[in-house]
Amino acid sequence: MYGGEEVQITPGMQAYIDKNGAYLAKRDKYIREVVKKWKFDTIAVHGLYSVEDAIEDYQGSIIEPIFMSTAQAYRDSDEMACALAYMIPTWCYSRIANPSTYYYEWTLALLEGYGYDGVTEACSTSSGMAAIMTAVQPFLVHRFHNKHEPRNFVATAQCYGGTFQQFSVRMQEERDIECRWVQDPTNLDEWAEKIDENTRFLYGELPSNPGLGFFDIQQVADLAHSHELPLIVDSTVATPALLRPICHGADIVVQSVTKSITSSGFGVCGAAIARKGLVTNIDNDVLKENFAIYVKYLPNRDYGPNLHPMQAIMSLNDMRTLRTKMDMLSRNTMKVAQYLQTHPAVESVEYLGLNDHPLHELASKYMWLVDSEYDDQYNKQRVNRYGHLMSFCVKGGPEPTRKFFDGLQRIWRATDLGRIKSVATIPAISTHQQQGEQGRKLANIPPNLVRLCVGGESPDDTIADLDQALSQVATSTAVATG
Ligand SMILES: *Cc1c(COP(=O)(O)O)cnc(C)c1O
Repeated sequence: MYGGEEVQITPGMQAYIDKNGAYLAKRDKYIREVVKKWKFDTIAVHGLYSVEDAIEDYQGSIIEPIFMSTAQAYRDSDEMACALAYMIPTWCYSRIANPSTYYYEWTLALLEGYGYDGVTEACSTSSGMAAIMTAVQPFLVHRFHNKHEPRNFVATAQCYGGTFQQFSVRMQEERDIECRWVQDPTNLDEWAEKIDENTRFLYGELPSNPGLGFFDIQQVADLAHSHELPLIVDSTVATPALLRPICHGADIVVQSVTKSITSSGFGVCGAAIARKGLVTNIDNDVLKENFAIYVKYLPNRDYGPNLHPMQAIMSLNDMRTLRTKMDMLSRNTMKVAQYLQTHPAVESVEYLGLNDHPLHELASKYMWLVDSEYDDQYNKQRVNRYGHLMSFCVKGGPEPTRKFFDGLQRIWRATDLGRIKSVATIPAISTHQQQGEQGRKLANIPPNLVRLCVGGESPDDTIADLDQALSQVATSTAVATG
């Protein structure tokens, strides 16, 4: 199926294929009849790692093992031949597959696919940027062996700085693959008029980092599909605890697992999660049928952006409490946003949870705490939650903004987000510095914008730190004008 050359199947190989076929059938049944019926938290805690797996294969270890091994040994030549032709599931070589990344992948696939009727699979990557590359590259190949066919894709202009660089420099400038930026992704006509016969996919980040852009996923997915195109969504800021784009029609989700999913901040990692049987105008049945496994076994085998098994298990450990963590972090952020709104030194506050945010209503349609409708704490009512990314503008321009920023005592100054520790940055001088003034204008990043990602500290203490830093700005403004 994935190989190049036709493989001669010996009777010994057939025995391995049969045995592994039975194993896969049993696994699929377990997913369908057991795991898919669990609530979100149960999936987050266990994923696909079962008591039976542990006892039979992993010495009873209750935590998924960290397999720091480059390669797998085979019983004989028949097993080796089957494995390397991808006729049986295999760990062969850790650039391609590894048991630790396998459990990481399945937990993410199941969490992103929670509430979705079909099957989702995931391909782990060394970073969020590698996940984006993994998700988009297979759609940019030459079709019909036409090396001169123009290629383009349509993407939301409000996106992560690294994504902007990947699309505008690596693809457009260096490879002549046109990126058509959508300025207002809530305007369906703008998406539609940018699509033509050379378009390969639609790409959207939501909520976007740091601008908190949002769009109607279902509508954009429908539009994509009506042109035989996939919709790829970067859902890093929301995490599957608050939003699962595949349930609303998206074909592929990319996650910088580095961020809120691995809130401990232990390292960099990512994943591309795809639904089986996605929509594309690329003539490749294997890609269409199971995108995640296709990229894992072929393009990523050849490019090598694989995840380290140690990082996979550390992130997996963080995922187990994702739902309650995103709930707490969202509630803390709401309290901080409401405080900032009342502060005289603050020009404006952007948080999707605030009623006066222009995208509040749209975001509320899609973002809620998964399974809150089963939670006694919330009287079994669905509650909206908006994550822990917010931003605000300090009055008076870039200078007071830097003064406030330098005055922070416990909130960390770092180009990071999604942490259990509160972190702040000024995007214009950090994450979005490289794209220049023009690019920042396109992405709507003013110089006095502060991105704040509220952590798990008591919100009262976070507010106290903001308050003392803002009071220094207020004093200096008073002195300057007085
Ligand atoms: C950080 C980030 C990325 C890139 O992820 P890395 O893990 O840093 O490579 C992509 N998208 C969004 C929204 C991000 O915040």
